[in-house]
Amino acid sequence: MRASFRGGIHPDPHKELTSKKRVEVLVPPSEIIIPMSMHIGVPCTPTVKKGDTVLMGQKVGDSTAFISVPIHASVSGTVKAVEPRLHPSGAKLMSVVIENDGLDTLCEPTPVPDWEHADAETIIRAIREAGIVGHGGAAFPTHAKLRSALGPVDTLIANAAECEPYITADHRALLEYTDDIVGGLYVLMRVFPNVRVSVAIEHNKPDAIAMMKRATRGDERINVVELETKYPQGSEKQLIRAITGREVPPGKLPSEAGCCVLNVDTIGAIYRAIVNGMPDIRRIVTVSGSAIAVPKNLLVRVGTPISALVEACGGFTDQPQKIIMGGPMMGSAQFSLDVPVLKASNAVLFFSENEDRRVKTPVCIRCGRCIEACPMRLLPTYMYMNATHERWNECEALNVLDCMECGACTYECPGSLHLTQTFCVAKARVMERRKK
Ligand code: SF4
Ligand code: SF4
Repeated sequence: MRASFRGGIHPDPHKELTSKKRVEVLVPPSEIIIPMSMHIGVPCTPTVKKGDTVLMGQKVGDSTAFISVPIHASVSGTVKAVEPRLHPSGAKLMSVVIENDGLDTLCEPTPVPDWEHADAETIIRAIREAGIVGHGGAAFPTHAKLRSALGPVDTLIANAAECEPYITADHRALLEYTDDIVGGLYVLMRVFPNVRVSVAIEHNKPDAIAMMKRATRGDERINVVELETKYPQGSEKQLIRAITGREVPPGKLPSEAGCCVLNVDTIGAIYRAIVNGMPDIRRIVTVSGSAIAVPKNLLVRVGTPISALVEACGGFTDQPQKIIMGGPMMGSAQFSLDVPVLKASNAVLFFSENEDRRVKTPVCIRCGRCIEACPMRLLPTYMYMNATHERWNECEALNVLDCMECGACTYECPGSLHLTQTFCVAKARVMERRKK
């Protein structure tokens, strides 16, 4: 039986556009923009200035905060500017702009010597120094996640669910960077010597399931788990429930349920950092959607403006009406092609049709489909009713803070209610009131 969870939805996957195409390496453009904020937590302070020469892999920003990671140059060249530049969040944020010399002159790599015998502390410190964050979209500093899981964890889940429509970056990583991912699992088994590992893959990727089973055959500690294809199967709480049957208590971390969940491409980045000494400076990005001429998966240096990705995919067939960084369910809308690819940018999607479903008078017809769809077992229709009347106490009592903004209820709603957006606002209001 395939592992799954209660609730969820089955959006049209659209993965056939890129799932069979090999990853193409994108030659980095002449200008690279490295924002000092590419992770959840405290932004970095630039450690270089205008006119400096930088090497590929050299640190260009750092912070002393625990929830933060250093940031590295993804090319070699000259620092053209250290100034605020447009960021995918929509704000202008401090960035190091590098004029690429096209030489990729590498900074001295710093692998962990004899990593097979290194202790957890040495490996976690090296993961921080390599600037690794979650590649699945969340961008949480990986060293902090590992540290919080030390001790209580008995299950490590390699998350390859990739449940958002269109995105196939992890699918291609499983097929083409298998050794990095399996190697990363062994590095993590040095950090957590007693864990059992589950590699979780949705059943619509049979080639990846077969590949990972072959690559891990003979090691009883590693199990490849076939998941039902359903959104949001890749969300941490749903994945833990599907694989272990355990519940993560509200407001708590996965380690409370004895689990540590890491995206598979993050695990590949861990291998490259520990064994090859390479920092987190490149990633696979799915470029897809109805407005793009030739959808592809590209191996992209962090800091590459998305205009270069469009060019590499043959431009547009139609003027895009909507640009999304990330998946269509949880990604963020973009308004410029100048924004750079970040460490957690797994996709950039371009849509020609205006998919804005806003209607003048959205009406709830009490069909209950949102309740069936909600993977957190919330009551979206009641939360919506209370939020639109600014009844924040009632919203809190209905556990609006547990809403993970997955968009499943909005997707299902025949009344075209903007449920998820309303819950984002309600969560902010409830938090403000709690702080007061
Ligand atoms: S957006 Fe929130 S309320 Fe809606 S389905 Fe997802 S978790 Fe449930
Ligand atoms: S899905 Fe939409 S219309 Fe149906 S009950 Fe929920 S909010 Fe109302």
